[in-house]
Amino acid sequence: MLILRVAVALPLRRYFDYLPKVGLNREQFKIGVRLKVPFGPRTMLGILIEIVDQASVEEHRLKPIIDVLDSEPLFSALDLKLLCWVSHYYHHPIGDVLSTALPSKLRKGEKAKLKGEKRWQLTELGAKKAIEGLSKQAKRQIQILELLQQHPTGLSSAEIQQQLGNCQPAIKALQKKACLQAYDCYIPPTVTDKVEAPFALQARQQQAVTAILSSLDKFQCFLLDGVTGSGKTEVYLHIVAKVIELGLQALILVPEIGLTPQLLGRFQRRFQQPIAALHSGLSDQERLTAWMMAKQGKASIVIGTRSAVFVPLQSAGVFIVDEEHDISFKQQEGLRYSARDIAIKRAHQHNIPIILGSATPSLESMHNANKQKYQYLHLPKRAGNAKPPEIELLDMKQHPMKNGFSTALLKTIAQHLGRDEQVLLFLNRRGYAPRLICRECGWLADCPQCDAHMTLHHQLRKLSCHHCGFEQKIPRTCPQCESLQLVMLGQGTERIEETLTKLFPNNNVARIDRDTTRKKGVFEQQLKDIHANKIQLLIGTQMLAKGHHFPNVTLVGILDADQGLLGVDFRSAERLAQLILQVAGRAGREQKIGKVLIQTYYAYHSFWDSLLYQGYHRFCELALEERQQAQFPPFAVQALLRAESTEQPFPMDFLNQARYLAEQYAIAGIEYLGPVPSPMERRGGWYRAQLLVQAKERRTLHQLLAHWIIALEKMKKYKVRWSIDIDPLEMF
Ligand code: ADP
Ligand code: ZN
Ligand code: ZN
Repeated sequence: MLILRVAVALPLRRYFDYLPKVGLNREQFKIGVRLKVPFGPRTMLGILIEIVDQASVEEHRLKPIIDVLDSEPLFSALDLKLLCWVSHYYHHPIGDVLSTALPSKLRKGEKAKLKGEKRWQLTELGAKKAIEGLSKQAKRQIQILELLQQHPTGLSSAEIQQQLGNCQPAIKALQKKACLQAYDCYIPPTVTDKVEAPFALQARQQQAVTAILSSLDKFQCFLLDGVTGSGKTEVYLHIVAKVIELGLQALILVPEIGLTPQLLGRFQRRFQQPIAALHSGLSDQERLTAWMMAKQGKASIVIGTRSAVFVPLQSAGVFIVDEEHDISFKQQEGLRYSARDIAIKRAHQHNIPIILGSATPSLESMHNANKQKYQYLHLPKRAGNAKPPEIELLDMKQHPMKNGFSTALLKTIAQHLGRDEQVLLFLNRRGYAPRLICRECGWLADCPQCDAHMTLHHQLRKLSCHHCGFEQKIPRTCPQCESLQLVMLGQGTERIEETLTKLFPNNNVARIDRDTTRKKGVFEQQLKDIHANKIQLLIGTQMLAKGHHFPNVTLVGILDADQGLLGVDFRSAERLAQLILQVAGRAGREQKIGKVLIQTYYAYHSFWDSLLYQGYHRFCELALEERQQAQFPPFAVQALLRAESTEQPFPMDFLNQARYLAEQYAIAGIEYLGPVPSPMERRGGWYRAQLLVQAKERRTLHQLLAHWIIALEKMKKYKVRWSIDIDPLEMF
């Protein structure tokens, strides 16, 4: 008896058994192919996980599959093992995990085929003939040879005809003479005029490269801790060069789309070969192409954001996670996975090294390096001649403030502008003002759907809620007392931009946040203008904090550091430290020394003392000590059960019952924190609450979750949506 065990692309925590279709033989059922299966009245897509000889239900209830979609598996046995591990570790339905891992075209059942374009290139003989010339009659052919000589990556027939007119017969003739050869091109070659040669490594870089190269044939996790500009990317490039030389592939994960073009450009200039880039800006077809190129080994370099961690590879050689501390590696909805953590597991399964790089490693990774679970590699100094920036606090209690600026900051900005240098200002709050308030009766513009204030957007003439997207017109009079005395309180990037334009009329200001960059191509243009020095003052949100390299920025101002200092989450201090050092890393990356000024009302907070005067490492030591005392991660493992409902009592009722159930299992070593309403209880019209579960050992927590989740699924009488978040990074 041949029974097909299938993971159906549905959020269900189990496999389903099917019979083969009549007329197909065993060889056609390869593990990892897609199948079309009947599911109730519907037809669904599934992946063949296993072939067994005994069904898990009575055999007369089994139905035959409808079709086999692939002749070759989409996922190798190792890939499937990873996906099953993900499902198990995150307690998430396997069908959903598979859907996350597949590009949408494959999820919809389209053919797993690489669509290429035929391009013509000169053969060696053709190159010679292009110089020596053919016979006089073959004028067309000579033109083609000469044209192709200028295009080493080749041209398509259409491109040739565009330049020379109809020449199909001439192409045919040249092919016959073995002067031309055709190849299938999947990603149009990017025209990189500049080829970048590798740098001679500095001593510390060399040490890092040597250490990693000596582990190419085994699993080892490296933490590459190097300040911004210390040459981490150069280390990656050296490792990747070696990996390609060995005929293997490198998978590089980056946090955000904003980072991808720069890093991508760097890899393209260094390695003149196709790179499969996977990020959210791709069309479905482009995504499929990149995915297939990675899978078939046609791209030796794969660079992508979070979900690229699932891309199948033909021969993995190394994994790199750049900016490993970045929380965008964690998906915050659906399958709440950490791409960094999965990458480590995957490297382990493939028995290859993985490099976690950051200027501000996460406390988790620092802890693992301390325990020597990770091998620690340190690049303490900037590469080249660049010096580290000077960082200074501006105590806002002592400096008079106006429109969000202290006089001291304004004076320094003027100095830097006077030297024709650029200034970057950072404020993590978009919009014009975070509050609209009535001076007479105290009315405040609140979101009707959230426990939050509405932000005023001047240009858009709107009040907008940044939590649920609700928008309304700006009222002219107070809705409560009809007074005209409505005032805008606080500063957002839009207002700062206005102030800067007034104060520095001879300089150009650019604002970079989600509002200004919504239109495609705007961000790229702004970056170009900054590089061309057309802009002298930049104001931006965290979009500006990462990855970008602005050689002429010598002053960075952090307008309000207190936003993070007073955060409710136990990770707030870590996040703030990382953000400040990342922003600071934008200053003075080349010849000129950079300066960073931080405005705060809490200049005497111990946070500053450790971070600024003793450094990030000392900060980490102290923060880890605190975490250990409080028994928080990485000294404990956590899972967060969230529930939400449109009716207020349900989430808490559900979670109270959930806690009661969990306690019945009497598993020793589990601690419950809550349930409590979420810090912002109402959001987008939903009431939210959460229950944090914690244990010292992952095994203990896992044991609880395995039983508990099944029980939770049966608790239908509470009208809530709930989710489980393993290793949660955000507590709201
Ligand atoms: P990171 O990735 O740590 O921010 P990069 O690799 O981008 O650092 O290097 C920062 C700058 O230093 C780049 O402009 C790079 O070209 C330069 N650089 C890196 N390594 C070297 C080296 N060994 N010698 C000279 N310049 C280097
Ligand atoms: Zn009023
Ligand atoms: Zn809202």
